[in-house]
Amino acid sequence: MNNKELSEKIIEDLYKEPDRKTAEIIEYYLNTGTKELCDKAASVCNDIHGNTVFLRGLVEFTNYCAMDCLYCGIRHSNGKAVRYRMRESSIVETALAGFEKGFRTFVFQGGEDPFYTTDMICRIVSTIKNSTGGEAAITLSEGIRSREDYKAFREAGADRYLIRFETSDPLLHKKIRNGITLQRRIEAILDLKSLDFETGSGYMTGLPGETEETGIRNARLCRMLELDMIGIGPFIPHKDTPLGLSDQMPFELCIRATALLRLLVPSAHIPATTAAGSIDPEGREKMLKAGANVLMINITPDDVKKHYLLYPGKVCLEEEGETGLGSLAERVKSVNRVLSYNIGSALRKT
Ligand code: SF4
Repeated sequence: MNNKELSEKIIEDLYKEPDRKTAEIIEYYLNTGTKELCDKAASVCNDIHGNTVFLRGLVEFTNYCAMDCLYCGIRHSNGKAVRYRMRESSIVETALAGFEKGFRTFVFQGGEDPFYTTDMICRIVSTIKNSTGGEAAITLSEGIRSREDYKAFREAGADRYLIRFETSDPLLHKKIRNGITLQRRIEAILDLKSLDFETGSGYMTGLPGETEETGIRNARLCRMLELDMIGIGPFIPHKDTPLGLSDQMPFELCIRATALLRLLVPSAHIPATTAAGSIDPEGREKMLKAGANVLMINITPDDVKKHYLLYPGKVCLEEEGETGLGSLAERVKSVNRVLSYNIGSALRKT
């Protein structure tokens, strides 16, 4: 079965009864209050990952995007977005400056921007790898590309790839992602896994049109895909998008989803995402208490990072990149956890 056929089968299976263990966890999730659910997830997280919270340095290198996802502030059709592209040399310098400060994992995230050719990305990756003696773990997040492109990135030294599916509802996916199918997204995830990338995906909680069943299926899909990293965050309406007038769902939905994910995919690295911190001042701490074990610190140069606005009110704009680490360490300490600069590989790789 090729990855296209396999992705079709995964979606088909997602709409069948889950296996017994999955069903038990879902039953527990549905019948347990948020506090008890989070305590259980935090205990599972501690058993498997210890009390460490891994730091990742995030570089948002372009906010140009050829895609037009209905919820996204940097979608192609948003004429109000102030666009930027970081130069190749600047991307490398930003990462190396982060390395000097102790970061060992870098996430390079951008819109789907064809300006950055496969060769350019490979050059960036291999330069950083070579300049850090292979010590830096490199994560790319640049959306759907061909398997050949992914292979080239891997051969250049990229270790990890993030590509969120955002919703497991095939019809909703096609609608909000402007025609791109869930099946194609899953196929890309399977391509990455077959190339031995540490592979991450994830979704939004509370997207307009989703039900509780969708939320559970989102988490089940993460389990079925055996993901190494899972990023989730609340849907936050952006006024300059077609979903700008949609309702914002209670943040508790995201907290419960974090806990459910920790129970369904115990080995995954789960970030306490920026979006969580953007709608609740204690959002990231709450996610850590619900089983998250990663924090991403935005180390994008100040002059451009204010324009990477997937949603409004992004919290890291108020922080000062790596100079805000002291206060983050304190916040992490407040939930009895410890920040770590270690690369924090996927558990199946350790
Ligand atoms: S969600 Fe990603 S692919 Fe979609 S418009 Fe935004 S940046 Fe582009």
